[in-house]
Amino acid sequence: MRIAKLQGCVVGLLAVAGIAIPALAQPDPEPRPVHIDECASSGDHLGISRVVEIDTKGGPHFGGSQGGHNSFLEPGEVLLTFDDGPMRSHTRAVLKALADQCTKATFFMVGRMAVAAPDMVKEVADAGHTVGSHTWSHKNLGILGVTRGRQEVEAAVSAVSAAGGKPISPFFRYPYLSGSKTVDAYTRTRDIATFWIDVDSKDYTTRDPNSVIRRVMAQLEQKGKGIILMHDIQVSTVRALPRLLDELHAKGYRVVHAVPKSDLSTVAEFDAIAEKALAAKADKTRVSKLADRAVTWAADPEPVEGQRHHPKSVKRAVPPAKPTSSEALPWGTTPAAKAKKPSKPAHSELPWQSTIFGY
Ligand SMILES: [Zn+2]
Repeated sequence: MRIAKLQGCVVGLLAVAGIAIPALAQPDPEPRPVHIDECASSGDHLGISRVVEIDTKGGPHFGGSQGGHNSFLEPGEVLLTFDDGPMRSHTRAVLKALADQCTKATFFMVGRMAVAAPDMVKEVADAGHTVGSHTWSHKNLGILGVTRGRQEVEAAVSAVSAAGGKPISPFFRYPYLSGSKTVDAYTRTRDIATFWIDVDSKDYTTRDPNSVIRRVMAQLEQKGKGIILMHDIQVSTVRALPRLLDELHAKGYRVVHAVPKSDLSTVAEFDAIAEKALAAKADKTRVSKLADRAVTWAADPEPVEGQRHHPKSVKRAVPPAKPTSSEALPWGTTPAAKAKKPSKPAHSELPWQSTIFGY
């Protein structure tokens, strides 16, 4: 569906590269057509050099030492990836920078962020980018058991799918790049591919775009190719991206667009949870809009593009509603979770992720 949205195609290209992609062992008799439009192939922009369709059967791992250096990238090729979003104020600027260069990326979305900004999930998907998942609440799966790990994985898959209104890719990235053998075992049964990284922008450590650009280009120069990690919730990346993409183009790097052979199905019990969380968010939005009208129009809850939210101004205008159990912990509250709630704001009100998230 995503691919079919690309109109005016002049190049029909299906490229499957990399000896480790399971698709090679199981040829698809009817590969779906993959197109690169004229803007992406003209050479005037960074564009896309090829589309790699990935068969995720068996839950392969890609990139980095944790991924066994298993790569579908050729020398000079990069995969652009953005974690932790979507966040309207920042993700929209990222989408614009990518569109200006007619190029595509993969977004590993956090379930709670998707519930907080479902329209942004749709915008990312409608722009033709690949949407994967990054757990429900950015927990460190390396220290969780398999039950909680499964909940984090599945709640995110259901939430991002429901927010976007269509299935997502079976592409997954661990928060903090902290893997778990038990979660690995589970994602393999679900045919979910795990993406590690080759180039780390470390955009969360700085607000300086030059630092992001220097770091990415230096690592690429050393490695010659790779999966690049950025965060669409980080202002440094928002500021760096237009120049970084220019520089990638100028240096002759080529962008690969990774798409899945098959979309990811969801698990019914988590679909119900996701729908509940989205409904709670919609209710809260309605209440907030009414409160805005009644209380004040002075505080703009929609932050200026490229700037961080200003939580205090939003809080003054609309006191956060008490979080529902479905938002706090989608698979049900626990005494520990209940005890923590009073000291923490509702996730949909504040961009706490931008300061807490590392990877
Ligand atoms: Zn992350």
